[in-house]
Amino acid sequence: MSAEKRTSSNVLLDTALKNFYAAAEEMGLSDDLVDILSHSERRTAVSIPVEMDDGSVKVFNGYRVLHSSAIGPGKGGVRFHQDVCLDECEALAMMMTWKCSLAGIPYGGGKGGVDCDPLKLSKKEKERVARTWAARMAPVIGSWTDVPAPDVGTSGPEMMWFIDTLSKMNNKLDPAVFTGKPVGMWGSKGRTAATGYGVATCALELLKNLNLDPSTIRVSIQGFGNVGTYAALTMVNAGAKVVAISDITGTYYSPKGLDIKKAMEHVQNHPKKLLEGFACDGCQKLDLPEAIYVECDIFMPCALEGVINGGNADKVKAKYIVEAANGPITPEGDAILDKKGVLVVPDFLANSGGVIGSYFEWCQNLSGFFWTEEEYNERLIRIMKDNFQLVWAYAKEKNIKMRRAAFMAAIQRVADAVRMRGVFL
Ligand code: NAD
Repeated sequence: MSAEKRTSSNVLLDTALKNFYAAAEEMGLSDDLVDILSHSERRTAVSIPVEMDDGSVKVFNGYRVLHSSAIGPGKGGVRFHQDVCLDECEALAMMMTWKCSLAGIPYGGGKGGVDCDPLKLSKKEKERVARTWAARMAPVIGSWTDVPAPDVGTSGPEMMWFIDTLSKMNNKLDPAVFTGKPVGMWGSKGRTAATGYGVATCALELLKNLNLDPSTIRVSIQGFGNVGTYAALTMVNAGAKVVAISDITGTYYSPKGLDIKKAMEHVQNHPKKLLEGFACDGCQKLDLPEAIYVECDIFMPCALEGVINGGNADKVKAKYIVEAANGPITPEGDAILDKKGVLVVPDFLANSGGVIGSYFEWCQNLSGFFWTEEEYNERLIRIMKDNFQLVWAYAKEKNIKMRRAAFMAAIQRVADAVRMRGVFL
């Protein structure tokens, strides 16, 4: 018998559940599968007592949620942020299940965190938080159980403390338990550019399907950090013109096309790694949000969530949007873009290069054999192309938008796995 639909007072979890129920209904998913997939397999909460540098003790809360392991071990970040809570982790774990499923990699969805403000902790305090989180989560994480990675507030150093703690507790090195490690410490070459390459690969597949030559295409990119930089470079290498780039200092625009290598060098040499002061032949400096509104064919939001919304979507001139940031278009913005006939490649397809890169790191760690950057990129691009074409074909077959198609294809794979494995635990 079908259980009541779940709701949550946490906005993120409530939205994740609503999105799932809506797609499941449209797919005609059976009530049993809806019940199973709307619940997480495991929600773990632990206390994290930490001795602070002044000798006092503070107790933080630590979490890890495994939403589904139907397809493989959990995969997802560990967030250090003061607002982290169990429901937020569950929402993000659920989204990771769909993202990994769509990416076609053998992972389920996981997410975790600690409700600490890393900016208020010393390096030593952060290390104690990380080591205690790893020690208390030891029973629920592992290379074939649940594989955490960096997220907001964590990066390579935290991954090293996690691994070191587990290795010493178990008297056995197992680098595949965490991904996002520094290159040279079991991390992978190629990871830095992976998400941006993946975003651009989706854009180039889109152009191929539409019979459009990249050399006739103008691209505008909001955000010139890790993802925006490599997306821009890949588009230019394919022959497209990147007419606008932006960061927190403003939008830099040239209808003739910008010199992206020069912009990257400028950022590299800037003391704060910003575009501030960037100038090139015919380049104009525009206000911060203008990257969204300039004349172009493809817009790539590579910065923040919610940048296209009910208040500004009608001003977008691009015909295509490839979402690199997570959730850059609100549902209200989406509806307006849809009426204008703008085609959107959804975030969890377009930015999945990052998690596919984590999978590559895990594969290399499990086999103890490292790949070259060329091997990494060749495999990444092949998977991104296949995934794009799968969603494209599914959307055409069902006559639905790519966002809904991506979601339905992802849920279908997990539902099939649950059905094949059967209900036991
Ligand atoms: P980043 O911090 O390296 O770069 C962000 C860039 O956005 C910076 O250039 C910053 O100046 C700019 N920016 C911030 N606010 C802006 C604004 N209002 N207008 C214009 N530019 C602004 O971050 P990143 O790693 O490149 O990630 C970008 C987005 O992609 C984030 O939403 C992130 O969650 C998402 N994402 C990243 C990865 C990854 O592997 N890095 C994977 C999946 C999704």
